[in-house]
Amino acid sequence: MAGDPQPLCSLPITIFNNLHKNFKNIDKIVFGRGSFDMLGGILDGRRNENDGFFLFVVDHYFKDKPLAGRLPARPGDIVRFIDVDPEEPTTAQVDALRDEVLSTRGLPAGMVGIGGGSIMDIAKATSLMFTNEGSSVQYQGLDLIKKPGIYHLGVPTISGTGAEVAMTAVLTGPEKKLGLKCEFTPFNQVILDPELISTVPRERWFYTGMDTYIHCIESETGFLNNAFSHAYGDQALKLCREIYLGEHSGQTPENDDKLMVASMMGTLSLTYSEVGICHALSYGLAMVFHEKHCYANCLAFQHLEDYYPEGVREFRQMLKRNNIVLPTGLSRNWTDEQITAMAHVAYNLSHMWNHAIGPDWKEKITIETIKALFKRL
Ligand code: NAD
Ligand code: ZN
Repeated sequence: MAGDPQPLCSLPITIFNNLHKNFKNIDKIVFGRGSFDMLGGILDGRRNENDGFFLFVVDHYFKDKPLAGRLPARPGDIVRFIDVDPEEPTTAQVDALRDEVLSTRGLPAGMVGIGGGSIMDIAKATSLMFTNEGSSVQYQGLDLIKKPGIYHLGVPTISGTGAEVAMTAVLTGPEKKLGLKCEFTPFNQVILDPELISTVPRERWFYTGMDTYIHCIESETGFLNNAFSHAYGDQALKLCREIYLGEHSGQTPENDDKLMVASMMGTLSLTYSEVGICHALSYGLAMVFHEKHCYANCLAFQHLEDYYPEGVREFRQMLKRNNIVLPTGLSRNWTDEQITAMAHVAYNLSHMWNHAIGPDWKEKITIETIKALFKRL
């Protein structure tokens, strides 16, 4: 059981000190319907930097869509449409893109990412790797990046992960799924245009939005919660309840506006707190079965009522209201080897257990405990 979070004053000093994160936020934000059309003007002032061209990475969904015709790319810019399914972004993918552009065209003035969390992370990570030698594998972790990257701008087209404002760029490497996390990672600019998320298919809209919901529940119920994380988390939860349970719930323009803001606020909440058990399990599912982040979270969260009783109850109401049915009984088809491998991935995310269970989490959580959680799926 998670146990009740302790008041801050009774926490050991090491935990308390970890609370004082000197976090780097994005430099500039534009929000509003149609704000995508500001992109060209924003880039104009930077076109003379480095070798004077922009690299656009765009989710391949938009390849034949009207948005592709609205890209403010000029002659000399590179526009790369990237298929983000089924694999999540990898270190090899980022290294290859960086190597190819550097060797054929030189150093871009900046990068623009247009897409979901996958594209946000590819854009953030590649912008860093343009100026840091070697493979991105060696930078997976906290503060391992040595030099600032090139200018980078994000335009999310699906909301929930909050990758557009996160201080990390999550990549799957040969050994681990872990972010490049440092003060140079956040975007210099994001453009939040809710019109862009209107085409997200209904089920994906639900799973991705639930990532925000789960971010808030985990951020707010763990040991590192604080007034800052509560302020953002409470507001994002309020918006999620309106979007997924309220009288006017559903995929409407008004709710798209709210979801885009909730996504940002949920991540600002966890930036100053932490995620918890669901995310630890989700990383295991991603490493072993390549499950996508938001869907994997939903698969796991429905079974975590011992740890997040109220959150799981409300999550089930949201499933019902939105006619979403999640599969169960999955673990019947998994081998003990696969379950053990997932349990090790999850166990190694000690910062998540530390937040969810407390500094003595190793006395309460073992590989066997985590295997038992996976067997609930
Ligand atoms: P995604 O980027 O993987 O895209 C999911 C699907 O939605 C794709 O098929 C894509 O083509 C489609 N899509 C995107 N925009 C669309 C639109 N407007 N209309 C129709 N289809 C659209 O989705 P995601 O769930 O946002 O991102 C998942 C990734 O984010 C994972 O790789 C995960 O690791 C990462 N992530 C990062 C952070 C972070 O803090 N950096 C946090 C959570 C998750
Ligand atoms: Zn998440």
